[in-house]
Amino acid sequence: MPPRQIRRYAASAAVAFPGVDAFLDPILASIATHDMTIMRSGGRFEIGSPYGTARLEARSRQLLLSVETDSPDALNRLKHALVGPISFIAASEKLEFAWTGDETGLTPLEDLRVLRVRDTTHLTPCIRRIVFEGEDLSRFDRDDQLHCRLIFQPKGEASPQWPALNERGHIHWPGQRKLATRVYTIRAIDPAKGEITIDFALHGRAGPATRWAVDASPGDLAGIVGPAADGPRPARFYVLAGDETGLPGIARILEKLDGGVHGFAFIEIDGPGEKLPLVRPTGIEVRWLDRNGAEPGTTTLLIDAVRSVVWPSDLSHSFFWGGCEHAAFRQIHRHLRTEIRLPRERQVFYSHWHRSLSEEQIVAAGAEAYLPD
Ligand SMILES: Cc1cc2nc3c(=O)[nH]c(=O)nc-3n(C[C@H](O)[C@H](O)[C@H](O)COP(=O)(O)OP(=O)(O)OC[C@H]3O[C@@H](n4cnc5c(N)ncnc54)[C@H](O)[C@@H]3O)c2cc1C
Repeated sequence: MPPRQIRRYAASAAVAFPGVDAFLDPILASIATHDMTIMRSGGRFEIGSPYGTARLEARSRQLLLSVETDSPDALNRLKHALVGPISFIAASEKLEFAWTGDETGLTPLEDLRVLRVRDTTHLTPCIRRIVFEGEDLSRFDRDDQLHCRLIFQPKGEASPQWPALNERGHIHWPGQRKLATRVYTIRAIDPAKGEITIDFALHGRAGPATRWAVDASPGDLAGIVGPAADGPRPARFYVLAGDETGLPGIARILEKLDGGVHGFAFIEIDGPGEKLPLVRPTGIEVRWLDRNGAEPGTTTLLIDAVRSVVWPSDLSHSFFWGGCEHAAFRQIHRHLRTEIRLPRERQVFYSHWHRSLSEEQIVAAGAEAYLPD
C-alpha cells in the first residue's frame, strides 16, 4: 500500500510594516521566548514550534510570514504564536495581518487546559499559594519553559466558556465576554498527580488576577495556556534576582540546581514576615532585601544588590535569571549589558509588571512598557 498522505495546512501573510528593520531583533527575541526555535537562512528566518513550522522575512517595508502545520487547530495556534509577540512588540505600528491560504474557521486553543482549584494556603501574608488540579498537564512540565498564561473564570461560573482562535491568529471570546488573563510562573508541577502550583503575590493595587487569587476557593476554575519563557541554563556561577513576582521562579530554579554551583539570590520583599524557606545549593547565598515600608517598585534594592556582585572573569560559565518591576528590570538590564557585558545567551530576564500600568495597558503600550532601553 502506498504510504498515507499526511494533510498539511498552510497560510501566508504580507504585512505592511514600514519600520520593520528597527523592530526585527526584539520581535525575533520575543518569538524565541515563546517556545520556538529560530534559524537564520540567508535573509529569512526558519521557525520551529510545537505547532508546526514558520518562515519570517523582512523585505521592502513588509514582514512576510508563512506557516505550515498538520492540523487546522495548529494552523491558527501557530499564527497566534507569531501574531501575538509581533503585535505586542510593534504595538505602535498597529499592524494588520491578512492571511491567505487554508481556511480553518474558529479553532480551539490546542494548549488550553482547564484547571480547578484544589487547595489554597497563605505562605506569607502577601503570598497565596494555589494548587490546581487538571488533566493532561505534561506539556507544562518543562524546566526550560517556566511561565504560563492563566485565564480566570468568574466564581461559580456554571457553564464556563473558553476563548478560541480565529483565522487571523487573534483570540476570539465567545459572546464577546472577555475574561481577565495574566502571566504567572509555574512554581511546581506534577503531571502524574494532575497538579500545578502557582504562588500569587497579593499586591495593594489589586487587579483582576490578584482579586481572583484572594477570593479563590476549591472548585474555582482557571484556564492555562503555554508554557513559555526560557528557564535557567547550565552554569557554575548564578545570580538570581527578583521581587515577590520573581520569587516563584527563583525558588523553583534554586531547588533544581546542582550542589556544586555558587552565586547569589537577591529577593526584594515587603518585610521579614515575607521570607520563605528555600531549598538551595549551599554555595548560593540568599539575601532578602527588605523594602522597609516603601511601595513595591520604588526602591533601588535589587540594582544595588546586583551591582555588589563580583563576577568571575570568564563569564561563559555564569548565568543571570530575574523577574521584577519594569524600572528595576531596566536598571539591572543596562548594568548587565554595559558594565558586566554579560552575553545575551547567559541571561534570562523579564519585566514582570509595571508600577503605573495594568497588564492591558502594558499590552497597549507595547515594547516601550516591557523591553529594556
Ligand atoms: C513572565 C512573568 C511571570 C510572572 N510570574 C508571577 C508569579 O509567579 N507570581 C506573581 O504574583 N506574579 C507574577 N507575575 C506578575 C503578574 O503577572 C503581575 O503582577 C500582574 O500584573 C498581576 O495582575 P493584576 O490583575 O493583579 O494587576 P494588573 O491589573 O495587571 O495591574 C493593576 C495595578 O497593580 C499594579 N501591580 C501589578 N502587579 C503588581 C505587583 N506584583 N506588585 C505591586 N503592584 C502591582 C500595576 O502597576 C497596576 O497599577 C509574572 C509576570 C510575568 C511577565
